Amino acid sequence: MSGLGMDRHGLVHSAYEFKDIFDRTGEYTGPFCCPFCEVSYIDKCIKTPCVKAPHFSLVPNGPGHLGQCNGEPARYSEIAAVVDEIKKPRRKVVGEIEFPEALVAASPVRARFKKSGDGQRPLQDEVERRRHGVDVTGFQASKFTSSLLRTFVFAHRRLKELAREHAQKSAAPSTLEFKRTYREVMESKPLELYGERLTYNDVFINSRLSPPGKPRIFQGRGWVGQEGDELVIRDGDAWPEEPRSSVKLEFFVVTDANIAECAPRTHRQLHSKLVDAARAGDPVHWHAFGSVLYSDAKQFVLRVMSLDHLFLEQ
Ligand SMILES: [Zn+2]
Repeated sequence: MSGLGMDRHGLVHSAYEFKDIFDRTGEYTGPFCCPFCEVSYIDKCIKTPCVKAPHFSLVPNGPGHLGQCNGEPARYSEIAAVVDEIKKPRRKVVGEIEFPEALVAASPVRARFKKSGDGQRPLQDEVERRRHGVDVTGFQASKFTSSLLRTFVFAHRRLKELAREHAQKSAAPSTLEFKRTYREVMESKPLELYGERLTYNDVFINSRLSPPGKPRIFQGRGWVGQEGDELVIRDGDAWPEEPRSSVKLEFFVVTDANIAECAPRTHRQLHSKLVDAARAGDPVHWHAFGSVLYSDAKQFVLRVMSLDHLFLEQ
């Protein structure tokens, strides 16, 4: 299993990053190969919905890496060797399902190499030059990362189903034992938000809870309107001002009404969805990641920093 791959244009990313790019643009840029020695890879779970983490593997019984190449950047091999000694990273699997573990910033291209083409492979010198020329910032082969909120929304739903099934086996619904088992499953899956370590149990917040002052994933159902140069979702529920408080405040999700021409296709689609919903007056189910501010007007306001952090369903 390899972490980094190169697409047909010579762009280098991790398998997770290629999955995000596919989810974001709808464009599949395979076939993929080793970015260093260009041995062919099979990609798994990048363009098809899958219960495993996206990854690359060698073609069974096909050719292997050239010389010293192991599919990893030179610097990463050094770092990984040290990390491995301290703690063997192991991805946790419940019922054969792998859950995304960290919401991270989208990575710029890690490298761009000129593909050899015509079944040629690079020379040994070139392989080593490439292995030293890749940006490994934030690359964690042992952690299933994504920069798209929707990845975690789907994973959260899947985990809730699993937790329910699991709890039903041990107790009758709405008993304390049922709740305890359910919670145990939800807490068993780590979910990191831009470096803050949490679990699937802590991250998702709805109107039954008061918004904490830290970035979380908020969810609700509301109506969209345009106000000046902003699109605003007004949530249908009022949210408790403080934990267990009976004082409730309105909750707004805010994003720019203007979108850049060069924005990814999925951002443009999301933007038109918002505009259409505003025009039609239809409610939307929303998920948004960010920090909620408590405005002077005694309202909760979540300003979305990137459209990757907003996910809408009708
Ligand atoms: Zn290789």
